[in-house]
Amino acid sequence: MRDLRVFNTVHSLRERLASEAREKPVCFVPTMGALHHGHLNLVKQAFKLSDLVVVSIFVNPTQFNNPADLANYPRTLEADLESLASVGDVLVFAPTVDEMYPPDFREIDLDLGALETVMEGAFRPGHFKGVVNVVKRLFDIVEPDYAFFGLKDYQQLAVIRYMVQRLGLGVAIIPCETIREPDGLASSSRNLRLSEQDLVDARILHDTISFARTYSPEHNPEETRKASMEYFSRSPLELEYLEIVDPDTLQPIEQWVPGARMCIAAYCGEIRLIDNDAVFGG
Ligand code: AMP
Repeated sequence: MRDLRVFNTVHSLRERLASEAREKPVCFVPTMGALHHGHLNLVKQAFKLSDLVVVSIFVNPTQFNNPADLANYPRTLEADLESLASVGDVLVFAPTVDEMYPPDFREIDLDLGALETVMEGAFRPGHFKGVVNVVKRLFDIVEPDYAFFGLKDYQQLAVIRYMVQRLGLGVAIIPCETIREPDGLASSSRNLRLSEQDLVDARILHDTISFARTYSPEHNPEETRKASMEYFSRSPLELEYLEIVDPDTLQPIEQWVPGARMCIAAYCGEIRLIDNDAVFGG
């Protein structure tokens, strides 16, 4: 088993990166740890483009709008390092909060426009501001050529792409497919907090999206949305939102467009789960 080196400071990581050949592309996978197959797939995709892969593990307090969620977020560094070592020789960046946000840290205030007013933006006030700031800070530290993000967090991916474009950052954003458990449940660090029964109940997110995909060819988006909400209501999960949106603008649609996406957020007990996938064409 490889013995991965963990960098806890910006200085030590940057020193290590500076020792690499200049022409070697830097691939970067930002995470909050409690790693699962979804994260490890991002790392595998990164190794396809370079053998210089940085993985950050940082539970970013500024993107949590719920203090209990932050306090209970799983932290499993030792197991994470073992998982990463089984994939390749990654450089692990695991900074403290003070290292990430020193006294001279300047927050950026990027207007995300309509991306911020729907779904995650609407239900988690301040969440994307935290995401934009932590990812920008990490990009400044790592200076990656490529950064890998999961389609599981579809709106987050759209926000990051928007930020890169608006700020003219020279990073190529590589989207990676959603990795699922054998029963269809999207892999998530928060699944660690689900009971056996919760894990069965939580399948409803993926099942509802599958239902919508079979229902959509004969019905318009609003009919499909209503029928999907009805379908979802058989489960004990508490629905927060269920939307069918344009895959680029993320705004609700009235007519089908190729790749139209269903996005769902729901509570399984205290655990908030999200999922999304294409439900029409595309
Ligand atoms: P997180 O640790 O939850 O902040 O996620 C770090 C990265 O892993 C983000 O780009 C997520 O979209 C991605 N990710 C999380 N779960 C999955 C999954 N099941 N499939 C693909 N990517 C994922």
